[in-house]
Amino acid sequence: MEKRALNYEGKAKTLYTTDDPDLLIQYFKDDATAFNAKKRGTIEQKGIVNNRMSEIFFTLLEREGVRTHFVKRLSDREMLVRRLEIVPVETVVRNLVAGSLAKRLGREEGGDLPRPIVEYYYKSDSLDDPMILEDHAIAFGFATEAELATIRAMALKINDVLRRFLDARGILLVDAKFEFGRYKGEILLGDEICPDTCRFWDKATREKLDKDRFRRDLGNVEGAYREMMERVSH
Ligand code: UDP
Repeated sequence: MEKRALNYEGKAKTLYTTDDPDLLIQYFKDDATAFNAKKRGTIEQKGIVNNRMSEIFFTLLEREGVRTHFVKRLSDREMLVRRLEIVPVETVVRNLVAGSLAKRLGREEGGDLPRPIVEYYYKSDSLDDPMILEDHAIAFGFATEAELATIRAMALKINDVLRRFLDARGILLVDAKFEFGRYKGEILLGDEICPDTCRFWDKATREKLDKDRFRRDLGNVEGAYREMMERVSH
């Protein structure tokens, strides 16, 4: 697979075109940002962890019948993916109260939810990714009603598969952010699934093993990413 031009440079990943117009190379960087890039830093080896962990999760999900953009891992920091027309909506699924939900509704972090909550955010750096309703996504043409129904069902299925896999490895999936896109008339899961995009807590100690260690200056950021990689590898 020949790497051609830079297609898109994001905060944590870079996309390159290839000699196949349907495929892109997704390159994982060590750059970390938080609070809409107001906080910046580097997490050593993060790109390698996120690439390998995403491969593990995408492979698991494909096996469980979820269609993803993942084709194959090419190297430590690169994977080959299908080129999606990205739906400009971030879908968050929550199993426990944390982060912005705790803040917005004045709830303690770690509280149980009787069933998963699905939320949508409009992907816009200039607007700080505002939360939206399905109605906004439909009215502003981000996705059709049918696509949103598919996205919601896929997000809940993905949450279910990941939650069970992680539970068996002593990890609580607190919440996660997914991105979807269109590919040849189908909706596929895109982006990455890793400690940058999910909250992972140790089941026994509730120790945070994700990007909150960077966001909140909790220390041992690299150690947490390494620990998560170790847990999902067996
Ligand atoms: N998340 C993400 N990218 C974002 C915002 C959130 O990957 O731009 C993830 C985050 O890691 C967490 C989940 O989505 O797993 C829910 O995040 P939340 O709404 O609590 O926002 P935060 O506290 O990160 O601002």
